[in-house]
Amino acid sequence: MLEIINVDFHVHTVHSPDSVITFDMLVEWCGKRKVDAVAVMDHDVIEGAFEFSALSRERLARGEWAPRVLIGEEVRTSGGEICGLFLSEHVPKGLTPLETMQSIRSQGGFVYVPHPFDILKLKRLNTRELEELTGMIDIIEAFNGKPRFPGANVLARRFLRGHDFPAGAGSDSHEPTHLGAAHVEMEEFEGAPDLLEKLRGGTVAGKLYSPLASAYRRVRIRTRS
Ligand SMILES: [Zn+2]
Repeated sequence: MLEIINVDFHVHTVHSPDSVITFDMLVEWCGKRKVDAVAVMDHDVIEGAFEFSALSRERLARGEWAPRVLIGEEVRTSGGEICGLFLSEHVPKGLTPLETMQSIRSQGGFVYVPHPFDILKLKRLNTRELEELTGMIDIIEAFNGKPRFPGANVLARRFLRGHDFPAGAGSDSHEPTHLGAAHVEMEEFEGAPDLLEKLRGGTVAGKLYSPLASAYRRVRIRTRS
């Protein structure tokens, strides 16, 4: 029987300045939400992804449960954010979108375009730029858990219908309660090329949450006052 797993392709850890997610929180909430694997996509840094991946492997080696951690980075480019997946080294911020994609691909990584039609983001790849760069893109995020513009996911899926990209999905979690809110249900995979193939047969699932509806932060604020 095929094993179907849930993968959240867009997660931020405490290594992102705007996220509170520690490794213990990741284990607890991925367990609760039945998320089997996450891609850590911290802003412009990769250390957290390496650290969480190592901690996950340690737990699994001890026979304890942990989500698998894929190593990524959400890189601020001169034309908006672009993610790299299966990275082995840091990608510097501030390059052009094309240079960033080249840097990701030169190390064998996949180019993952997050929230492509979130038109309220000041800097982002517009449709023309996306079309020009299609040869460099591996995965398009068809569903983001907290787009600023509510129609962004609809536009992303419409774009995907006219192109041959596998669809990714990620919660864009910056706090544990949002983990898994958006994810892909897909066949268990082994390594990078296999992931891309299995992703094509995957199902995007999940629900939107408001970036303002933050139970976790509310509790934190209350405990301080
Ligand atoms: Zn993000």
